[in-house]
Amino acid sequence: MYTFTDRGDRSITLRPEGTPGVTRALLENALRLPCRLYYVGPMFRYNRPQKGRYREFYQLGVESFGEASPQVDAEVIALGHEFFASLGITDCESQINSVGCRECRPAYYQKLKAYLAERQDRFCKDCRVRTEQNPLRVFDCKEASCQALLADAPRSKDNLCPACAEHFAGVQDGLKLRATPFVINDRMVRGLDYYSRTAFEYVSRSIGAQDSLGGGGRYDYMVEDFGGGPTPAIGFALGEERALLAAAATPVPERQLVFVVALSENERPAGIALLKELREQGVNARMDYDSRKVQKQFRSADTAGARFCVILGEDEVAKGTVSLKDMKSGEQKELRRGELISKLVAD
Ligand code: AMP
Repeated sequence: MYTFTDRGDRSITLRPEGTPGVTRALLENALRLPCRLYYVGPMFRYNRPQKGRYREFYQLGVESFGEASPQVDAEVIALGHEFFASLGITDCESQINSVGCRECRPAYYQKLKAYLAERQDRFCKDCRVRTEQNPLRVFDCKEASCQALLADAPRSKDNLCPACAEHFAGVQDGLKLRATPFVINDRMVRGLDYYSRTAFEYVSRSIGAQDSLGGGGRYDYMVEDFGGGPTPAIGFALGEERALLAAAATPVPERQLVFVVALSENERPAGIALLKELREQGVNARMDYDSRKVQKQFRSADTAGARFCVILGEDEVAKGTVSLKDMKSGEQKELRRGELISKLVAD
């Protein structure tokens, strides 16, 4: 925690994360369920600064309240994955695990504690404290010797009650339905104590030691613990600085430029409409508005480094087609408008 005493001798703690505050906002404003919220803002943690780990950093988070289905877990996990993909971060791995619920956890904790107790003197000092306070957190230890000792430790995912096991299977099915790649990491328990059932993390190898881009999980008990009714909830928080580091480390192929060429001013309006349509489909498109002459427009396309020219003449406009000129090979062919978009998007 980033805690200090201010000039009025008050102990001040800067917020370390968003989820509890969002949960309180839900309750204080009596928001109707189900309810989906997001936040973006600075967070503060007093840890040793290094690359990708700062005392002030920005988090972008989403929270869903009032929905219990494992499909919601899958949707939330997929949302983060797609967000990173949209930034061009292609090596982001979604790791998932289940940490069980209040039904199955006590028996699992007993089992884990017994395993840890047998090896007590070989674990580090912090792990010995964790064993007493929250044995699951031992899995978070960065010491290689502790990790080696955990090789045969019982895992939460193998000790779930039938309802939690069914939920975890449902999350995996949901991810498969969405074609979201994932791996099960049965050592990933997340640093916070409030999670139940699904825990997940987005990991990228490209950003060094601080390899977690974001993470989240279910916290089905928080609303109730804060004085509300039973309310299932799930969310994640992503670190903006790490997302920027990862995006910079993953080169994105430059989007190729497409130039729209109007054979005469009569085709200019159709060209402008086509330009808008191409851009809406994510195609990087331009037009030379100043030049009436076709040759000049081609020269502009060349100067700008256009990969293709889309040519509109009287015939093309009448037929609803375009001529597509490959600027590398010089090859030109006529296409229907629908074909053009799918060709350019695929290229
Ligand atoms: P957490 O819930 O603690 O796993 O935090 C979620 C995400 O916030 C992490 O995956 C990081 O991307 C980001 N984050 C957490 N702590 C820091 C920090 N000290 N500096 C920069 N980013 C952080």
